[in-house]
Amino acid sequence: MTTPTTSGQRPRTCRACGKKYEYPVKGSDATRHHCADCAGLDEDARKIFERLNNRVTQLENQLRRLQEKSAPPQA
Ligand SMILES: [Zn+2]
Repeated sequence: MTTPTTSGQRPRTCRACGKKYEYPVKGSDATRHHCADCAGLDEDARKIFERLNNRVTQLENQLRRLQEKSAPPQA
């Protein structure tokens, strides 16, 4: 899943904590997929964060679907 980009810098979402960050930023430890905070984490710990973040994202999506079902947007 790659999106072609014309400019190098654009907001990214950290895979581990879900934080929005800019990349690349001079002097920042952030990587393509992780913000500066998480880039400094131990790799094993970061994998756990990524797993938890995936679950949170899934739960948020489920919650949104449930909310839409119980309270449909008024026309
Ligand atoms: Zn992060």
